[in-house]
Amino acid sequence: MAKKVIVIGSGAAGMTAASTAKSADPTCEVTVFTQDEDIAYSPCAIPWGIEGKSKWTDIVMHTPEYYEKERGIKVYTKTTVESVDDASKTVTADGKAYTYDSLIIATGGKVFIPPIEGTDLKNVFVVRTIRGGKDIQEASKDAKHIVIGGAGVIGLELAVSFRNMGKDVTVIEMMDQVIPRIADKDMADIMQKHLEDMGVRFIMKAPIQAVKGDGEVSAVCAAGQEYPCDVMIFATGVRANLDIPKALGFDVGQLGAAIVAPTLQPYKRGRLVPDIYLAGDLVQCESAIMSGATMSQLGSTAVKQGTIAGFNAVSAKKRLFGPVASPWVSQIGDLQISGTGLSKGLASWYGVDVVEGKAEGLTRARYHPGGKKLIVKVLADKTSHRIIGGQIIAGEEATGRIDWLTAAAINGMTAEDFLVRSENAYCPPTSMVKDVVISAVEDLCRNLE
Ligand SMILES: Cc1cc2nc3c(=O)[nH]c(=O)nc-3n(C[C@H](O)[C@H](O)[C@H](O)COP(=O)(O)OP(=O)(O)OC[C@H]3O[C@@H](n4cnc5c(N)ncnc54)[C@H](O)[C@@H]3O)c2cc1C
Repeated sequence: MAKKVIVIGSGAAGMTAASTAKSADPTCEVTVFTQDEDIAYSPCAIPWGIEGKSKWTDIVMHTPEYYEKERGIKVYTKTTVESVDDASKTVTADGKAYTYDSLIIATGGKVFIPPIEGTDLKNVFVVRTIRGGKDIQEASKDAKHIVIGGAGVIGLELAVSFRNMGKDVTVIEMMDQVIPRIADKDMADIMQKHLEDMGVRFIMKAPIQAVKGDGEVSAVCAAGQEYPCDVMIFATGVRANLDIPKALGFDVGQLGAAIVAPTLQPYKRGRLVPDIYLAGDLVQCESAIMSGATMSQLGSTAVKQGTIAGFNAVSAKKRLFGPVASPWVSQIGDLQISGTGLSKGLASWYGVDVVEGKAEGLTRARYHPGGKKLIVKVLADKTSHRIIGGQIIAGEEATGRIDWLTAAAINGMTAEDFLVRSENAYCPPTSMVKDVVISAVEDLCRNLE
């Protein structure tokens, strides 16, 4: 009999899992339930969608009709899974029961909104779905003042989009730097200055106290001041959506996300749960850098987990999801910023003493036209000399370089090893003959001596 696979969630993790299950076992029946009206799209593109740089229709990769016709996957949109009974292997969605042999829960995350007055006023938004993106775009058409809560990468990407739309933009952040958790202050300050040069106003060290308005938002209060506001967006972090895992009694880790085995199966009171797999933003990961838990709420992680969950849902032989360094990258105005492994802040949270190396140069040979500034910073554990993280700011080509540092960190390379065993490809239009990454690690080795 055909194996029945049910997937809850149509984001990066859910749709990847659905497609992988179907291709690993073409005889299986795959059904996806999602609350969303759009499926198979990258939320990462929403800031550019709001600005109109990317078309909403282009962001969506495939429609439910495509999945049904071309891949034999049935997708129910605007359909909420209300409950799961893992004893009878039944999912209840919009009042109707569906049985499964394997279940994949990929219900993503929820934007954290601080518990303050006024967050339910009209024109106060979070950014998570295309529907939400379209609503923000519509509301901001005639808006003058945009306030963004949170100076993480999503908040900064939105700030650039709204500046490009000619809006007055204020970003309110409770910490003393932008991108506070994953970037170091010296790198963050460069990004903040870049945005200030574009006309973005920052209110730092200022927790948002209240959103004010009569029916719709008119001002945001922070640090004892009121800032005029026509559209307010909370980009204040994401929490795992544990509604279904908690109702099932699955174990939750110290970082507030579901604990899973390397097969991506959850645990119930310490025992592995059969035939259920979790993938995406609701999952707690193992760190590849330190022993212990970490979060990796990234599209790239969701796709990787979706592939493994989908395969494991239909196969006797299981694939494993390994520890993560969580490399990330963002385009903010004319600059890219990327990072991997631990920032200094995260390292101190883990109790690691850090030594850093830094170098500046260009993305192309000095004489080749169009070269952009490139700043590379590499962090090592002072005791073991292991590379534990790095950050890059560049006018172009940050991604490949951060992936290089990620490979070094995941493989436990020391700074000295890196210099012995690393080489860089070179031609004048693509890099300097000695890449700036190598120069940064040379600086690191000097500082470790
Ligand atoms: C604006 C923005 C920019 C981003 N930029 C980047 C980036 O540049 N790079 C990067 O790597 N990551 C980025 N991310 C993060 C990345 O998009 C997420 O990590 C990824 O989308 C998570 O995928 P997911 O499938 O776990 O969750 P989601 O995409 O959130 O999907 C969850 C799904 O579950 C469904 N669902 C939830 N509960 C139920 C229920 N009870 N019944 C039915 N359906 C349900 C929802 O409708 C949704 O379809 C960005 C995120 C945002 C919002």
